[in-house]
Amino acid sequence: PYTGPSAEEIFKKRKEYLNPAIFHFYKDPLNLVDGKMQYLFDEKGRRYLDAFGGIATVCCGHCHPDVVDAIVNQTKRLQHSTVLYLNHAIADFAEALVSKLPGDLKVVFFTNSGTEANELAILMSRLYTGCHDIISIRNGYHGNAAGTMGATAQSNYKFNIVQTGVHHALNPDQYRGVFGSDGPKYARDVEDLISYGTSGRVAGFIAEAIQGVGGILELAPGYLPSVYSTIRKAGGLCIADEVQSGFARTGSHFWGFEAHGVVPDIVTMAKGIGNGIPLGAVVTTPEIAKVLTHRSYFNTFGGNPVCTAGGLAVLKVIEKEKLQENAFKVGSYLKERLTSLKEKYDIIGDVRGRGLMLGVELVQDRELKTPAKSETIRIMDEMKEIGVLIGKGGFHGNVFRITPPLCFTKEDADFLVDAMDYTISKM
Ligand code: PMP
Repeated sequence: PYTGPSAEEIFKKRKEYLNPAIFHFYKDPLNLVDGKMQYLFDEKGRRYLDAFGGIATVCCGHCHPDVVDAIVNQTKRLQHSTVLYLNHAIADFAEALVSKLPGDLKVVFFTNSGTEANELAILMSRLYTGCHDIISIRNGYHGNAAGTMGATAQSNYKFNIVQTGVHHALNPDQYRGVFGSDGPKYARDVEDLISYGTSGRVAGFIAEAIQGVGGILELAPGYLPSVYSTIRKAGGLCIADEVQSGFARTGSHFWGFEAHGVVPDIVTMAKGIGNGIPLGAVVTTPEIAKVLTHRSYFNTFGGNPVCTAGGLAVLKVIEKEKLQENAFKVGSYLKERLTSLKEKYDIIGDVRGRGLMLGVELVQDRELKTPAKSETIRIMDEMKEIGVLIGKGGFHGNVFRITPPLCFTKEDADFLVDAMDYTISKM
């Protein structure tokens, strides 16, 4: 049993000593002390079904024994910097990772986070093309360092940075967007941005296939192929930010971009890649990778032996336990059940997403689509009381984000929907 400090004591210390900007879920924040696969346990040993940990980090399940063993064994043997010496862990993981990617995406740069991965992808695009302008999509999230904060297109996450050379295109948002699900129409905005806002040449384009922080918005069909072709005509590179949608989460494919039938020039990843340990990666072509040989470029811990040993174990678990197939099967079932809840309750304006990356948008009025913000918080809180943890997001904070570890079962899906059904019915 847990014998450490109580939630109240930790909360008090956090308020006194930690970053005052960090936020927490729930009126009474949870003190989580143990995790096992899709379950989390608080200080009193109470069990919660985790339907959000997938986004935070966990793809195989909390404390998956194969991943833990790989990390512990490597830690006991050697932990060191990634640069200067040889070690098999980093080389083996790079080889395995590349085998999951299409086309000529064959060279890996490891980082410690998604922000670092996107910073590097943007840097490489600028070096490769000799241009500065980057186009990203409104409502996207790509990180919080200087360059990525510029590419991030939500005021909620922007500070007073010098934001040069980024243009934010219309969001091909199928729920609220002006062109509905007509992807190619939204894509014309990118053409306009290039024609009117740049020299006619750009460094690149960055997008998530499904916006995660933005509220589980899947780009309208036909958008990405059209934009990729426009960007390439303007000399730019296409970057797929797979930090949330990668690693089998969308079920139908291993990577989110694959559902759109495109092959990016650069793919960035983090979060699920290491099942919770700090790891990120940029994968690109040998030709693009060469741009970094003009100077010295390194990352002390990006791809260190311990993290890459964990990463390799994650890939093996995804294969062995058929987690992509499971994400597809359980995700499709869960989406169907959530969609039937939408028929029952007017407050549910939209159910969307793919595999185990699903969103439920709450509105006060289906016509006006007025965000039901406080209701979202209340339902989340009540669901926690029943023992189910879900996330929230979207620009207005009115979208439930359901992104469980990929070992989620049909029974878990039923419990989640029943808990949501009961909670909404009481309101
Ligand atoms: N890209 C996407 C799509 C993300 O969701 C995030 C994190 N929410 C990032 C990049 C940044 O990753 P990190 O927090 O690891 O820097």
